[in-house]
Amino acid sequence: MKIIMLGAPGAGKGTQAKKIADKYHIPHISTGDIFRANIKNETELGKKAKTYMDQGLLVPDELTVNLVIDRFKNPDCADGYVLDGFPRTIPQAESLDAALAELGEKIDYAINVDVPDDNIINRMSGRRACLSCGATYHIVHIPTKEEGICDRCGHELILRDDDKPETVNKRLSVYHEQTQPLINYYTAKKILVDVDGTKDMADVFDAIVKILGA
Ligand code: ADP
Ligand code: AMP
Repeated sequence: MKIIMLGAPGAGKGTQAKKIADKYHIPHISTGDIFRANIKNETELGKKAKTYMDQGLLVPDELTVNLVIDRFKNPDCADGYVLDGFPRTIPQAESLDAALAELGEKIDYAINVDVPDDNIINRMSGRRACLSCGATYHIVHIPTKEEGICDRCGHELILRDDDKPETVNKRLSVYHEQTQPLINYYTAKKILVDVDGTKDMADVFDAIVKILGA
């Protein structure tokens, strides 16, 4: 099963993608996580990506597309994957389709996690992320057992630089301009499904499981 998660930054794509990956035994591929790991390891890609991410801008397509397409060669992708944060532009979506067509494959579902902008600001300011294992929490909605410490791996949690309010507004406008058009793109391909992302995390996941099958 090959799945794309669509939605504004902070809509809950990563939260749901991790649950999908666990239930359906497919890898969770997050371009944001890949960039953050590169920044942490101070790679050339990380240095380049950071200059865009810190401003709330998208990393250029030429630095992003091949990264994902190469990842598909990993044997863990044999039964599919859940893409989180990719594609984010129409050219990325077209490159993805072209790469899959060469393999005689296609995306099965594009799941749009729908959350209005007003809720997004609250979600992002309360988000706490673990740079070590990629887990995300919310200080009010999805708290950790011990404040500031990852439940999964015990590392310290951070407020992402790009989750600070001044950057969040920029990211939202970039989303509306460059990523939201993908909703029409996948609607035309008849694979778009909407879920109400304002519901509780467990209810959102139930809605997704109804779509994907138990
Ligand atoms: P995205 O991957 O779309 O950027 P995340 O999955 O990281 O978003 O979620 C953004 C923030 O909102 C995180 O702090 C997360 O814990 C929280 N969150 C995710 N889903 C829900 C939900 N259904 N209700 C409330 N908060 C949520
Ligand atoms: P995320 O973790 O998905 O919120 O992504 C964090 C940041 O990484 C984004 O604001 C972008 O700067 C960058 N990024 C992640 N995925 C992509 C992508 N597919 N295309 C371009 N930039 C991306």
